[in-house]
Amino acid sequence: MTAVQNEIERRGSRIFELVDKHPEPLFSKAGLYQRLMALSMRDEQFKVQLFRFVDVLPSLRGSSQIIEHLDEYFSDNGFGPLVDAGVRLARIVPWVSGPLLRWNVSGMARQFIAGRNPDDVMATLRKRRAQKIGFTVDLLGEAVVSETDADKYAARYLDLLERLAQETKNWTDPLGKNSELFPVVNLSVKLSALYSQMNPADPVDAIAQLAPKLRPFLGRARELGAFINFDMESYAHKNTTLELFKTILIENEFKDWPHAGIVIQAYLRDSEADLRELIDWGRTRGTRFAVRLVKGAYWDYETTKSLQNGWACPVYFQKPQSDANFETLTRLLLENESIVTAAFGSHNVRSIAHAQALAEDFGIDHSRFEFQLLYGMAGPIKRALVEMGYRVREYCPVGELLPGMAYLVRRLLENTSNEGFLRAKFAENVSAKELLRDPRELIKLNGENPMKSQTTITTQNQHRQNSGLVDTASDDVYRNSPLVNFVYKDSQDKMRSALREVRNRFGEKYPLVIGGEKLWTDQLTPSVNPSAPDEIVGYGSEAGIPEAERAVKAAREAFGKWSRTLVEERARLLERAADIMERRRYELSAVEVFEVGKPWNEADADIREAIDFCRFYADQMRRLGRPKLTQRVPGEESYHHYWPRGVAFVIAPWNFPIAILCGMASAGVVTGNTVIMKPSEQSIVCGAMLMQVFEEAGVLPGVLNFLSGHGSVIGAHLVDHKDVDLIAFTGSREVGLKIWESAGITLSGQRELKRVICEMGGKNAMIVDSDADVGEAVGYSIYSAFGYQGQKCSALSRLILLEENYDRVMERLIPAAASLRIGNPEEPGIMVGPVIDEAAYRRILDYIEVGKSEATLAYQAKELPPQGYFIPPSIFTDVKPNMRIAREEIFGPVLSVLKVRDLDEALDVANGIDYALTGGFFSRSPDNIERVKAQLEAGNVYINRSCTGAIVGRHPFGGFKMSGSGTKAGGEDYLLNFLVPRVVTENTTRHGFAPEQTPEYRDEFLWPRPN
Ligand SMILES: Cc1cc2nc3c(=O)[nH]c(=O)nc-3n(C[C@H](O)[C@H](O)[C@H](O)COP(=O)(O)OP(=O)(O)OC[C@H]3O[C@@H](n4cnc5c(N)ncnc54)[C@H](O)[C@@H]3O)c2cc1C
Repeated sequence: MTAVQNEIERRGSRIFELVDKHPEPLFSKAGLYQRLMALSMRDEQFKVQLFRFVDVLPSLRGSSQIIEHLDEYFSDNGFGPLVDAGVRLARIVPWVSGPLLRWNVSGMARQFIAGRNPDDVMATLRKRRAQKIGFTVDLLGEAVVSETDADKYAARYLDLLERLAQETKNWTDPLGKNSELFPVVNLSVKLSALYSQMNPADPVDAIAQLAPKLRPFLGRARELGAFINFDMESYAHKNTTLELFKTILIENEFKDWPHAGIVIQAYLRDSEADLRELIDWGRTRGTRFAVRLVKGAYWDYETTKSLQNGWACPVYFQKPQSDANFETLTRLLLENESIVTAAFGSHNVRSIAHAQALAEDFGIDHSRFEFQLLYGMAGPIKRALVEMGYRVREYCPVGELLPGMAYLVRRLLENTSNEGFLRAKFAENVSAKELLRDPRELIKLNGENPMKSQTTITTQNQHRQNSGLVDTASDDVYRNSPLVNFVYKDSQDKMRSALREVRNRFGEKYPLVIGGEKLWTDQLTPSVNPSAPDEIVGYGSEAGIPEAERAVKAAREAFGKWSRTLVEERARLLERAADIMERRRYELSAVEVFEVGKPWNEADADIREAIDFCRFYADQMRRLGRPKLTQRVPGEESYHHYWPRGVAFVIAPWNFPIAILCGMASAGVVTGNTVIMKPSEQSIVCGAMLMQVFEEAGVLPGVLNFLSGHGSVIGAHLVDHKDVDLIAFTGSREVGLKIWESAGITLSGQRELKRVICEMGGKNAMIVDSDADVGEAVGYSIYSAFGYQGQKCSALSRLILLEENYDRVMERLIPAAASLRIGNPEEPGIMVGPVIDEAAYRRILDYIEVGKSEATLAYQAKELPPQGYFIPPSIFTDVKPNMRIAREEIFGPVLSVLKVRDLDEALDVANGIDYALTGGFFSRSPDNIERVKAQLEAGNVYINRSCTGAIVGRHPFGGFKMSGSGTKAGGEDYLLNFLVPRVVTENTTRHGFAPEQTPEYRDEFLWPRPN
């Protein structure tokens, strides 16, 4: 054993001895609370229900609501007699049990919250002072969704600072040594509370907005002799937080101020590089600064979020890796003690003893660094550290119960976590020796990602590259292409450079592609940049009837061979196209930013969707492509399989200009049809890019044809064409219904009954229940309604609020809308860009006038860019279900708010409409959630999240009623729409003798047989 390990064990054992002198259970509050926590640690399902109940409780009004929720969360869940008896009893006397429950949960929260307000907290701080424990105070608050919220927060921080300075004027340093490094007043600040529009893609904007808010605050702290710590939040904000800290503290006013600190999270893989950079920066700056080293509070969030988006996970997967890294960073901090003051934020005795042993080894005095622990946790450890002569500071959250719940739930999770030190020591009595082991010894080589087993996303066998005939089906869950993570500077730089390159090609002319030949026609259609309509992104060649005829002929000719091409070969074509789009990802996104006004992340999501369509449909076709035995019967075999339909005509909209075009075209091609694809007139360049991708992927002449032109000319002609067998359309209801009707007429010489895949619009509703989390409901509603200017068919356009919650939601909804960043989406972090063209611009403005005449314009943005088709985000209230703005699709940033009595009425209003595309519900009532899942009429129902952003394979997308013919793009059954089923039966008996084995799958029926 090394000398350091010896010393760690010696010191750790000493801490444990002192801790055991004043034994305290993990949860210091006795009675019910302890029993609940013990049950939570034994039963994961109970823990989930309990924490959810705790989360909703403060927002419930009245005893009956509380009891209803209690019932929904806990009765009949098999949690045992104690819980059942409690629920029964609560039902009998609700007027007693409601308040009692609230009181108990408030008690739980009070255990972790040091005070409601600055006055309240002083009592706690004085008590701690008597125990020689310092403080850092943090303000709890609801999620900041608007600049109004952010301004309120800033004012509260300032008030808190003044009060603390005033109240602690005569306080002295508990150790009386090196006190100049550790001001008595210490405040912890969260940047996301000060600016509502922080966007990881745009650190420059965040810094520009935050620095002016912080300067007066930091200046005042300096005057008052206080210390300010920048807390660290989720990974998305990490780089901005570090950058802002470095930017502001190098300014003349603060360059020589030593009383600012920042947090480094050891669970992050980046943390060592960040800390080294920070130390180099500090050395150049020449003034001390402080670092609070922690492991990190958002482990579950970071792993879930990165898994959902397919991102490299920023945190370690194994707990001992975080512990070991904490020790590496401890060493780095202590080695640089001359420039950085260290605070070790941990309750783990091993991590603490390691810091002590190392400091001792380096000859650093106890008083030159500190240990920081959370209020309400690990009391005996704090006491032990004080007894050992160390500097101890407590992190004291201050705030009301409602915003305190999120914090309470985080602490409860931490305390009951299987991996946590506190649980091991105080609840499970793990031995001191075990708890003091070197974490490096505990790291498992090739350690598994523990989340993997909990998720439906698997990495195995995704888009397989096997050769020859397909002999196995891919039963695996499809794994989506990752979104670009704009948190990285490298991604931001790549996007900027792609935007520059694409701009250099403005004005290029793009050909039609028919039968593999490029054709430039005399008539050109300009495609303009809606943010700057005098800029022409490119020109599309305009096809007329002769070109349309040529395209049908080419497609028809190619069909014979393509329909008899091996499924595997067709699938691989799509996979090659996906790989090319992956390679050209930033470039394609940049084209979308210019041509259709998509913000960066929306453009990237579109390209990702196109890639997913290709890979997902390739997998699906492999599954469908093999003739499958219908039943196992002796002497006969019947194989069910599919044939393509013929020539498919694909008509796509401009709002997902590559994804939707690619989805329909790739489905057509992979199923063995030949395809004529017509992009929207507003997104010809995007369409031409997709054609380039398929050409490079090696599509055979005539299999995919690119025909840009006017829908009214070539569109109508081809829909009515006798040689077109299938029409795949996504667009407006008006055009969709016409196509549906025309395709129903059988023409002379027509071979097939035409199949129409018709995806149309929506008038999507989001219902907000009376117990909903208002911050979340507002944040997601704003994004669903105004993201990409409301030009998604899934966008929210009717917000239905239960009257009980109406004022609370509106109070935050309007400021949130008023805080949105509107502008040219070439800039990162813009949420609202221009609408697609002048016609849309005029139409939406007309709708706003209709709204003004029918309802009340409650909000409209005032400042818009001077040029471009920018529509001010607008919110109407007093909207009634029969009004035009509540019934007609507007396709722009216009939101109608409808007030209803209860959930019955909410569902009547939501369903009482022609459309059924997407719908959403915000609630924390399990019963109401179940009811809405069952009754909301929409193709895609979303609970407690935005109603936009469907992901291929995960959220197969499409509606019914007047929203569409009931197909699901990106779903398992989508390709069937492009196929006709066929069954081949053979009597395999010869003179009573029949083979014993019949394979479940067989090779495709192809003649002549492929080599
Ligand atoms: C005073 C103070 C201030 C803090 N400020 C912040 C802050 O600004 N920002 C912030 O993010 N955190 C902050 N924290 C840290 C956080 O809230 C937790 O309290 C802390 O991570 C718990 O670590 P521990 O060493 O006490 O406990 P331990 O039980 O030793 O460690 C638990 C931690 O290990 C990590 N972990 C858990 N499971 C795994 C796994 N499977 N793989 C890898 N790692 C895992 C997580 O970080 C978890 O919190 C602060 C903590 C304190 C005490």
